Amino acid sequence: MNVINKDYQQLQEQIQLLSDKWNQQLQEDKLTDSEQVAAITKYPALSQLQLSVDLEQYHRFIEELLLLLGETQPSLESDIKALKKNMTTEVLGQWFPEAITVNQAFFETFAENHQIASWLPYFVAEHAIRPYLQKAASEIKEELRDVDVSGGCPACGEAPRLAIINKKGKKEVTCPRCLHAWEVKKIKCAHCGSEEPGKLEIIKVEKDDSAEVHVCHECNGYTKVIDVRKKIKKESIALIDIKSIHLDFIAQENGYGVSEHSDVN
Ligand SMILES: [Zn+2]
Ligand SMILES: [Zn+2]
Repeated sequence: MNVINKDYQQLQEQIQLLSDKWNQQLQEDKLTDSEQVAAITKYPALSQLQLSVDLEQYHRFIEELLLLLGETQPSLESDIKALKKNMTTEVLGQWFPEAITVNQAFFETFAENHQIASWLPYFVAEHAIRPYLQKAASEIKEELRDVDVSGGCPACGEAPRLAIINKKGKKEVTCPRCLHAWEVKKIKCAHCGSEEPGKLEIIKVEKDDSAEVHVCHECNGYTKVIDVRKKIKKESIALIDIKSIHLDFIAQENGYGVSEHSDVN
């Protein structure tokens, strides 16, 4: 079952290839400062850290993504041109922390001020930031291990709206932004932490025994749960998230919604 448009899915697959390449390029870098990491007391952790990021490189990532968007959507030509013109290293220095904290309003204002399609700056800023989030999250993995994580990704703050059933058969909430993952009890709400009997309801999906939606009567949150052991094709978390967008619709049609932002890009 798949309700998303074929072109959009293809674009997401191409973006995945780009981000695989970007991840490779960051492999050797160290983005976090050990002293700062040792001093973390608040979560999400990544917005508390001064990541050492090469803004020229972030710029290149965005340029590569814009090239791809331009090729696949020629109608964006003038938006892309306007964005490129206004995207200085100084501007990107402002973008970076705003993208980490998902300040969509900031990017919408930027788009408006420069007469660019309102979704475009945020879309590229977010996709190009993910390799950094993923690398930094992997560097602080140990520090995140024992954190009580009800409510959001302890690394980047993303709402816990996606989980997999992992090889051990455990429900593992996995963050599609930074790829940090943590196991939770099957009957526990990943949003509010409620374990009270009857609070978590499991919605099964017709003709697909690899997917469920766990909804919570306590906080109204939902988490898509995908049994990756039943999938023949192994896919990245980002693509699993995109391709299970019908589960978001099921949850939302039933009146459930994620607490903060519900970005499904
Ligand atoms: Zn995260
Ligand atoms: Zn809940």
